[in-house]
Amino acid sequence: MHSVDPTTEMMIRSVLAYAENRLRLDPVPLDSGSRDPAELDVALSGLLGDEGHNPDQVLGVYASTLAPAVISADSPRFLGFIPAAPTKAALLFDMLVSCASIQGISWLEAAGAIHAENQVLRLLADRAGLPDEAGGCFVSGGSAANLSALAVAREAAKRRSATLGRRWRVIVGSDAHSSVGNTLRLLEMDPLVVPTADHRLTGDAVAAAIAADGEPESVAAVLATAGTTNAGIIDDLAGLADVASRHALWFHVDGAYGGAGLLAPSVRAAYDGIERADSFVIDPHKWLFAPFDCAALLYRDPELARSVHSQDAGYLDVIHSESTGWNPTDYAYHLTRRARGLPLWFSLCVHGVRAYSAAIESAIDLARQTAAEISARGYLELVRDPQLSVVLFRRIGWQPADYAAWADALLDDQVAFAQPTRWDGETVARLAFLHPQTPMSLVRQILDRMARPA
Ligand SMILES: *Cc1c(COP(=O)(O)O)cnc(C)c1O
Repeated sequence: MHSVDPTTEMMIRSVLAYAENRLRLDPVPLDSGSRDPAELDVALSGLLGDEGHNPDQVLGVYASTLAPAVISADSPRFLGFIPAAPTKAALLFDMLVSCASIQGISWLEAAGAIHAENQVLRLLADRAGLPDEAGGCFVSGGSAANLSALAVAREAAKRRSATLGRRWRVIVGSDAHSSVGNTLRLLEMDPLVVPTADHRLTGDAVAAAIAADGEPESVAAVLATAGTTNAGIIDDLAGLADVASRHALWFHVDGAYGGAGLLAPSVRAAYDGIERADSFVIDPHKWLFAPFDCAALLYRDPELARSVHSQDAGYLDVIHSESTGWNPTDYAYHLTRRARGLPLWFSLCVHGVRAYSAAIESAIDLARQTAAEISARGYLELVRDPQLSVVLFRRIGWQPADYAAWADALLDDQVAFAQPTRWDGETVARLAFLHPQTPMSLVRQILDRMARPA
C-alpha cells in the first residue's frame, strides 16, 4: 500500500487524470445525481470488504455514481446557502498539501508551512486593522473558530470575576449564526439575545439591553456578525466595540461569510470598528476562494488564547520548549491540523490581493444589479437592499410551497441551486452570490421563471 508498484502507477495516472479533468471544468456544472440511498447502495455493493479491487473499477464507481450525486458548490450556478468558488491555484495546491502530508501543528515540525500561513493571517489582520501582536491559526470552519474564540472569551471573563461557578452570557443579535447557539450550549453559556431593528445589532440596542438587565455582571462578551449568513448584514461594529470596551466585555466578530468584504473597497467602511475586536473569524473557504475546509481565527491577544488552548502532555513538552516558535495547535481546541492555509497562501501569491478584491467586488456588484432587476419587475419585491452579496426578495402572491417548487424545478432543470429562506416569519427567495463567473443572464433567467406560476 505504501510502495510504488504497478497498481500505484495505475492510480497515479487515472486519479490524476480525473483530477485534471475536474480542474479543467470551466465552468463547473451543477450535477445532481441520485440521492436515493438504495440506488447508491447498489452501485457500491461489494466494493468495501476484506478483499481489494482494481483501482480503476473503484474510481469508475466514484466518477459515475458518487461524484454526480454531489451538487457542485463551486459551480457558478450554485446560489444557495453560501456557495464556494476556490481558485484553480488553490485547488491545485490543496492537492500538493495532501500528497506531501503537510501538517501545521508545531513550529518544531512545520516551520515552513506555518510561516506562510502566518503571513496570510497577518494580511487579514492588517486589513482588519488589528495590532502587530495579533495572531491565531487556521481551523476547519467558522463553527470551530467561533467555539475556540468564545472558549477564550469565557476564560477571560472567569479570570476577571470574583464569583466562582457563574453561568456566563454572551450578547448576540437575533441573526447571529446557528453555530453560535451550538457553541454557547457546548460552553455552558447562555445567549442574551438583543432585539434588532432590521436585523442589524447596534451599539445603542446593546447598551439599552445592558442597562435594563438585572445581572449585567454575568455578561462575558458581545458577539457581532460582519455579514449575516441569511441576508449579508454587517452589524454596527463601531458602536458594539464602544459598548464592549465601556463594560470591559470581550468583543468577538464573526465574519465567517462576510469578512472577505474587508478586501472590497466599496463596502470597507461598513467594517469600521473591527480593528477593536478581541477575536475575529473569517472563512476563506467561503468568500476568499480557498478549498474546504479553511477558516482563519485571529486573536488580539494570542497569548491569552494560548493559555486556554495549549495542550499539556509529556510527549508534547518539546514543542513548547522551543521558545521562539509559533504553534498553531495552541490557538484552538485542536491538536493535529492540516496546513489548510497553504492553498490560500499559494493562490494569493500567484494572483495578488488586487485580483481577490476585484473578484469579491464582482459578487457585490452582481447583488446590486440583481436588486435593480427585481425592483423593475412588478411581480417581485425586494425585501431589503443588499449590503453584501445576498439578495432576499419575494414573489408577490407566492406561498411556501411555491418557493419550494421553484427551487426544485431550478435544480431539476440544472439551471441553478437556490433555496428559499425565512424572513420575519415569511418564506422568501434568497440568492447568495460569490462566484465571480455567475452571469447576470443566469439571474435574469431565474427571475423570468418566477413570472409564471410555480
Ligand atoms: C458559515 C458561517 C459560520 C459557520 O462556518 P462553517 O465554516 O460552516 O463552520 C459561522 N458564522 C457565519 C456568519 C457563517 O456565515
